[in-house]
Amino acid sequence: MEIKNKPTPDPLASNHMVDAYMRWALQAAEEVLGKQGLTIVLRDNGLEKYVDNYPPEELKISGNVTNSDYANLCTGLLQFYGRAGKSVDYRIGRISSKYAIEKQAAVFNVAARMAVRLLPFQNQISTGLDNLIGGFQKLWSDFGEEAIILKEDRGDSFAYIQQTCPTCAGKQADEPICHQTTGMLLESIEWLTGKKVLVKEVECRAMGDPACVWEISKTPDE
Ligand SMILES: [Zn+2]
Repeated sequence: MEIKNKPTPDPLASNHMVDAYMRWALQAAEEVLGKQGLTIVLRDNGLEKYVDNYPPEELKISGNVTNSDYANLCTGLLQFYGRAGKSVDYRIGRISSKYAIEKQAAVFNVAARMAVRLLPFQNQISTGLDNLIGGFQKLWSDFGEEAIILKEDRGDSFAYIQQTCPTCAGKQADEPICHQTTGMLLESIEWLTGKKVLVKEVECRAMGDPACVWEISKTPDE
Protein backbone atom coordinates (compact mmCIF):
# COMPACT_ATOMS: atom_id res chain seq x y z
CA MET A 1 0.00 0.00 0.00
CA GLU A 2 1.22 3.44 -0.88
CA ILE A 3 0.37 6.58 1.06
CA LYS A 4 0.99 9.92 -0.60
CA ASN A 5 0.30 13.53 0.21
CA LYS A 6 -2.88 14.80 -1.41
CA PRO A 7 -2.16 16.64 -4.67
CA THR A 8 -4.16 19.67 -3.49
CA PRO A 9 -3.76 21.05 0.04
CA ASP A 10 -6.18 19.59 2.59
CA PRO A 11 -7.51 22.36 4.86
CA LEU A 12 -7.78 19.82 7.70
CA ALA A 13 -4.01 19.32 7.70
CA SER A 14 -3.40 22.77 9.15
CA ASN A 15 -6.03 22.40 11.89
CA HIS A 16 -4.69 21.51 15.31
CA MET A 17 -4.39 18.47 17.48
CA VAL A 18 -4.77 18.46 21.25
CA ASP A 19 -1.29 18.59 22.83
CA ALA A 20 -1.86 15.63 25.15
CA TYR A 21 -3.19 13.46 22.31
CA MET A 22 0.02 13.93 20.35
CA ARG A 23 2.07 13.27 23.48
CA TRP A 24 0.19 10.04 24.21
CA ALA A 25 0.58 8.86 20.61
CA LEU A 26 4.33 9.52 20.87
CA GLN A 27 4.58 7.76 24.25
CA ALA A 28 2.61 4.81 22.88
CA ALA A 29 4.84 4.67 19.80
CA GLU A 30 7.89 4.72 22.06
CA GLU A 31 6.44 1.80 24.05
CA VAL A 32 5.91 -0.22 20.87
CA LEU A 33 9.01 0.75 18.86
CA GLY A 34 11.54 1.69 21.51
CA LYS A 35 13.13 5.11 21.63
CA GLN A 36 15.57 4.50 18.77
CA GLY A 37 12.90 3.13 16.46
CA LEU A 38 10.66 6.07 17.13
CA THR A 39 13.50 8.52 16.52
CA ILE A 40 14.05 7.00 13.08
CA VAL A 41 10.35 7.31 12.21
CA LEU A 42 10.24 10.90 13.44
CA ARG A 43 13.30 11.90 11.41
CA ASP A 44 12.01 10.12 8.29
CA ASN A 45 8.71 11.97 8.45
CA GLY A 46 9.74 15.56 9.06
CA LEU A 47 8.94 15.35 12.76
CA GLU A 48 12.44 16.03 14.15
CA LYS A 49 11.01 18.66 16.48
CA TYR A 50 9.42 15.87 18.54
CA VAL A 51 12.64 13.91 19.15
CA ASP A 52 13.09 13.94 22.95
CA ASN A 53 10.57 16.77 22.99
CA TYR A 54 6.97 15.64 23.44
CA PRO A 55 4.15 18.16 23.82
CA PRO A 56 2.96 18.74 27.41
CA GLU A 57 0.34 16.41 28.85
CA GLU A 58 -2.35 19.03 28.68
CA LEU A 59 -5.85 18.73 27.28
CA LYS A 60 -5.53 21.90 25.30
CA ILE A 61 -4.75 23.11 21.82
CA SER A 62 -1.64 25.26 22.08
CA GLY A 63 -1.38 25.53 18.30
CA ASN A 64 2.04 23.83 18.31
CA VAL A 65 0.72 20.49 17.03
CA THR A 66 -0.99 20.32 13.63
CA ASN A 67 -3.13 17.51 12.29
CA SER A 68 -0.46 17.20 9.66
CA ASP A 69 2.10 16.30 12.37
CA TYR A 70 -0.24 13.68 13.77
CA ALA A 71 -1.03 12.25 10.33
CA ASN A 72 2.68 12.11 9.46
CA LEU A 73 3.33 10.11 12.62
CA CYS A 74 0.44 7.70 11.99
CA THR A 75 1.16 7.10 8.31
CA GLY A 76 4.92 7.08 8.95
CA LEU A 77 4.48 4.15 11.34
CA LEU A 78 2.15 2.40 8.94
CA GLN A 79 4.70 2.56 6.14
CA PHE A 80 7.72 1.81 8.30
CA TYR A 81 6.25 -1.52 9.38
CA GLY A 82 4.84 -2.65 6.04
CA ARG A 83 2.34 -5.47 6.51
CA ALA A 84 2.60 -5.28 10.29
CA GLY A 85 1.94 -1.53 10.24
CA LYS A 86 -1.78 -1.88 10.70
CA SER A 87 -1.48 -3.83 13.94
CA VAL A 88 1.26 -1.48 15.19
CA ASP A 89 -1.14 1.42 14.60
CA TYR A 90 -3.99 -0.40 16.36
CA ARG A 91 -1.75 -0.94 19.37
CA ILE A 92 -0.71 2.69 19.45
CA GLY A 93 -4.36 3.73 19.29
CA ARG A 94 -5.19 1.40 22.16
CA ILE A 95 -2.26 2.46 24.35
CA SER A 96 -2.94 6.17 23.70
CA SER A 97 -6.55 5.57 24.73
CA LYS A 98 -5.41 3.97 27.98
CA TYR A 99 -3.57 7.19 28.81
CA ALA A 100 -6.62 9.21 27.77
CA ILE A 101 -8.97 7.11 29.90
CA GLU A 102 -6.75 7.63 32.95
CA LYS A 103 -6.71 11.39 32.49
CA GLN A 104 -10.13 12.28 31.12
CA ALA A 105 -12.40 11.61 34.07
CA ALA A 106 -15.15 13.76 32.56
CA VAL A 107 -15.54 11.47 29.56
CA PHE A 108 -14.34 8.19 31.08
CA ASN A 109 -16.00 8.19 34.47
CA VAL A 110 -15.98 4.94 36.45
CA ALA A 111 -19.27 5.62 38.28
CA ALA A 112 -20.95 6.50 35.00
CA ARG A 113 -19.56 3.27 33.55
CA MET A 114 -21.34 1.22 36.22
CA ALA A 115 -24.62 2.91 35.33
CA VAL A 116 -24.03 2.41 31.60
CA ARG A 117 -23.41 -1.32 32.11
CA LEU A 118 -26.97 -1.72 33.38
CA LEU A 119 -28.28 -0.72 29.94
CA PRO A 120 -28.96 -3.10 27.05
CA PHE A 121 -25.72 -3.69 25.14
CA GLN A 122 -26.55 -1.57 22.09
CA ASN A 123 -27.44 1.34 24.37
CA GLN A 124 -24.06 0.93 26.07
CA ILE A 125 -22.34 1.37 22.71
CA SER A 126 -24.58 4.25 21.77
CA THR A 127 -23.99 6.07 25.07
CA GLY A 128 -20.24 5.44 24.86
CA LEU A 129 -20.09 6.96 21.38
CA ASP A 130 -22.19 9.95 22.47
CA ASN A 131 -19.80 10.56 25.38
CA LEU A 132 -16.72 10.32 23.17
CA ILE A 133 -18.18 12.59 20.50
CA GLY A 134 -19.41 15.13 23.08
CA GLY A 135 -16.01 15.13 24.78
CA PHE A 136 -14.11 15.71 21.54
CA GLN A 137 -16.52 18.41 20.35
CA LYS A 138 -16.25 20.30 23.63
CA LEU A 139 -12.47 20.04 23.78
CA TRP A 140 -11.96 21.39 20.27
CA SER A 141 -14.61 24.11 20.57
CA ASP A 142 -13.06 25.31 23.86
CA PHE A 143 -10.04 26.30 21.75
CA GLY A 144 -11.93 27.78 18.82
CA GLU A 145 -11.70 24.81 16.46
CA GLU A 146 -14.33 22.38 15.35
CA ALA A 147 -14.52 18.60 15.69
CA ILE A 148 -17.25 17.47 13.31
CA ILE A 149 -18.21 13.95 14.39
CA LEU A 150 -21.60 12.27 14.11
CA LYS A 151 -23.20 9.02 15.17
CA GLU A 152 -25.63 7.22 12.90
CA ASP A 153 -27.79 4.14 13.47
CA ARG A 154 -27.22 1.65 10.65
CA GLY A 155 -29.32 -1.28 11.85
CA ASP A 156 -26.81 -3.90 13.00
CA SER A 157 -24.18 -1.27 13.72
CA PHE A 158 -23.59 2.32 14.71
CA ALA A 159 -21.51 4.50 12.44
CA TYR A 160 -18.92 6.88 13.92
CA ILE A 161 -18.54 9.52 11.23
CA GLN A 162 -15.57 11.85 11.59
CA GLN A 163 -15.44 14.64 9.04
CA THR A 164 -12.46 16.20 10.79
CA CYS A 165 -10.24 13.11 11.04
CA PRO A 166 -6.68 14.11 12.06
CA THR A 167 -5.22 10.64 11.42
CA CYS A 168 -5.27 10.89 7.61
CA ALA A 169 -5.30 14.70 7.21
CA GLY A 170 -3.57 15.63 3.95
CA LYS A 171 -3.01 11.99 2.93
CA GLN A 172 -4.11 9.91 -0.03
CA ALA A 173 -4.36 6.11 -0.14
CA ASP A 174 -6.39 3.37 -1.80
CA GLU A 175 -7.64 1.81 1.42
CA PRO A 176 -8.67 3.12 4.85
CA ILE A 177 -5.61 4.11 6.89
CA CYS A 178 -6.91 5.53 10.19
CA HIS A 179 -6.03 2.53 12.33
CA GLN A 180 -5.11 4.56 15.43
CA THR A 181 -8.71 5.72 15.59
CA THR A 182 -9.91 2.13 15.17
CA GLY A 183 -7.70 1.19 18.14
CA MET A 184 -9.05 4.13 20.14
CA LEU A 185 -12.66 3.06 19.49
CA LEU A 186 -11.90 -0.59 20.36
CA GLU A 187 -10.19 0.35 23.62
CA SER A 188 -12.81 2.92 24.66
CA ILE A 189 -15.73 0.54 24.01
CA GLU A 190 -14.03 -2.36 25.78
CA TRP A 191 -13.32 -0.14 28.76
CA LEU A 192 -16.94 0.97 28.92
CA THR A 193 -18.76 -2.30 28.27
CA GLY A 194 -16.20 -4.91 29.38
CA LYS A 195 -16.80 -6.70 26.07
CA LYS A 196 -15.12 -6.87 22.68
CA VAL A 197 -16.93 -5.63 19.59
CA LEU A 198 -16.10 -5.48 15.90
CA VAL A 199 -14.99 -2.06 14.71
CA LYS A 200 -14.19 -1.51 11.06
CA GLU A 201 -13.24 1.60 9.12
CA VAL A 202 -15.40 1.49 6.00
CA GLU A 203 -14.78 4.91 4.45
CA CYS A 204 -11.74 7.16 4.60
CA ARG A 205 -10.99 10.73 3.56
CA ALA A 206 -7.65 9.46 2.23
CA MET A 207 -9.68 7.56 -0.40
CA GLY A 208 -11.63 10.68 -1.35
CA ASP A 209 -14.64 9.99 0.88
CA PRO A 210 -16.18 13.04 2.59
CA ALA A 211 -15.52 11.59 6.07
CA CYS A 212 -13.78 8.73 7.82
CA VAL A 213 -16.46 6.26 8.90
CA TRP A 214 -16.27 3.36 11.32
CA GLU A 215 -19.00 0.78 11.81
CA ILE A 216 -19.31 -0.58 15.33
CA SER A 217 -21.29 -3.76 15.80
CA LYS A 218 -24.24 -3.60 18.19
CA THR A 219 -23.58 -7.10 19.48
CA PRO A 220 -20.54 -8.34 21.43
CA ASP A 221 -17.94 -10.31 19.49
CA GLU A 222 -17.98 -13.46 21.63
ZN1 LIG B 1 -9.11 9.42 8.56
